[in-house]
Amino acid sequence: MVNLQIIDDIVSSLSKLPGVGEKTATRYALWLVEHKKEAEKLYLSLKYMLDNVKLCSRCRCITTNKDGICDICKDTRRDSSILCVVENMENFLAIESSSVYNGTYYILGGLVSPLYGIDSYKLGLDYLIDRIITENIREVILVVSATLEGDLTTQYIKESLKDASVKITKIAFGIPVGTNISFVDKDTLIEAFKSRHAV
Ligand SMILES: [Zn+2]
Repeated sequence: MVNLQIIDDIVSSLSKLPGVGEKTATRYALWLVEHKKEAEKLYLSLKYMLDNVKLCSRCRCITTNKDGICDICKDTRRDSSILCVVENMENFLAIESSSVYNGTYYILGGLVSPLYGIDSYKLGLDYLIDRIITENIREVILVVSATLEGDLTTQYIKESLKDASVKITKIAFGIPVGTNISFVDKDTLIEAFKSRHAV
């Protein structure tokens, strides 16, 4: 009898990836068994990622820099008085590749939940608020989805900064409700940035 435990283990790991069900995971696992060169490349990339990639200690985007601070945060040509607060890494990548923005970032990695409330540790909100105040940020641009969660997050940030002299804006215009901005085309994103409004 063939021992398929190893396939089960790979399927079990792959099916935890977003959007991958058990059937697709099985297809991937069997494909990898048949394509060992590709499997090895994937293994080496994952190993490198595990050993070297971390989240930037200032903005939480990924970096391989030894000091844990990413190239964007270190780049003195960027306007450090503007901070773009994004919901997730995908939105961050969409904005960066559109070249519409030249300030710095903060990646929340989630939103305030109406059911579970504020997980300020997970979202790093305390650090974010502290950073905005101590670094005299003049504008905070919020890029959060037009959902209840997005509104709650906006409210929390606005409330926490009510005594600070910082302009808080949002780029909702032109982006349909509930749309992840990684699916929005570049021109719409540029337009949305240009026509951002105070919240
Ligand atoms: Zn950074």
